[in-house]
Amino acid sequence: MSSKRDYYEVLGVERGATEGEIKRAYRKLAIQHHPDKNPDDPTAAEKFREATEAYEVLKDTQKRAQYDQYGHLDEQAGFGGGYGGAGFNVDLNDALESFLRNFGMGGGMGGGFSDVFGGGEAGGQQRGRSLQLKVVVTLREAAFGGKKKVKINKQVACGKCGGSGAAPGSRPSVCGQCNGRGRVRQVRQSLLGRMMTEAACPACGGEGTLISDPCTDCRGSGTVRGEETLEIKIPAGVSSGNYMELQGKGDAGSRGAPAGNLRVIFEVEEDELFERHGDDLLIDVPVSPIDLILGTKVEVPTVAGKVSLKIPAGTQSHKIFRMRGKGIPHVNRPGTGDQLVRVLAWTPQKVEPGLKKALEEIRDDVAGKVPPPGRHLFD
Ligand SMILES: [Zn+2]
Ligand SMILES: [Zn+2]
Repeated sequence: MSSKRDYYEVLGVERGATEGEIKRAYRKLAIQHHPDKNPDDPTAAEKFREATEAYEVLKDTQKRAQYDQYGHLDEQAGFGGGYGGAGFNVDLNDALESFLRNFGMGGGMGGGFSDVFGGGEAGGQQRGRSLQLKVVVTLREAAFGGKKKVKINKQVACGKCGGSGAAPGSRPSVCGQCNGRGRVRQVRQSLLGRMMTEAACPACGGEGTLISDPCTDCRGSGTVRGEETLEIKIPAGVSSGNYMELQGKGDAGSRGAPAGNLRVIFEVEEDELFERHGDDLLIDVPVSPIDLILGTKVEVPTVAGKVSLKIPAGTQSHKIFRMRGKGIPHVNRPGTGDQLVRVLAWTPQKVEPGLKKALEEIRDDVAGKVPPPGRHLFD
């Protein structure tokens, strides 16, 4: 499964830790590993980022509950960020912003992180927008998983200028103010003391380059409206509302900036035969009253084809039989749900005179054994 460390382990707290304990643990780690405090330790930034990611999930009641239930998702399987909000990734800039948002503000710091970080994305590199896409799948697709091709309309790199934004034949010039870095250093006072932070270069808006002769197709942005066909993996066991995050499959970024992500949200269609209850499937099977009295075998549809089910003699109407493992696979743990088969006495609307006579002859025998009215007679 995922190579990620357990979020509780990352923060060094118990699974039952309170919000306060989680916050304190994160604060300690974030200060310890803050990249500006550890300029010579290349692993510090990653530790800082990892702690922030864990904190962002565990501080949110809903995300934490989902994480507790599903854990990390299998990134190797190509599910990107994962399902149901449990999957989560932050980059270092997000982590720094998040840290300031959670601890840096209001402490007499003056100004906000947007000041420190150059207005975040708006003033920095124009990262592509993240998009959402609803993918409707059938119950059978949800049961077995599969692949589906979908088309999405989005911003794609401009073909004319190759995404650079500069008219063909011209080239963006390197910004003189930041020497092409796109960011300039600033010294800020924060709760950690004097801190070097970076902000987007005001001259080039964080791009690092200046365009004197913009491309006419994209008017210098480097992106145009386009279409992309994607093959979406449908994980076996998926249910409505599950989603996965495809990194970099959202809108293309301006002039080579990173693309946004694409969140694929699954919706499982209602099925004609089966009613889904979590990972169990319920189906009603009508059986003649005679068969319920004498016992029989019935062919029951399942998502994987027909299966024979033995109905013992003397079975009451509404009895539910459980066919183990014939339901929907659990999406993020081993095992499969069951199929529940509810047998219902099916009464013919019309009977021919001969049959009617025969039934009348046995009527009193059967009727004589019916219990008086009461509660839960069919349990
Ligand atoms: Zn262009
Ligand atoms: Zn610049």
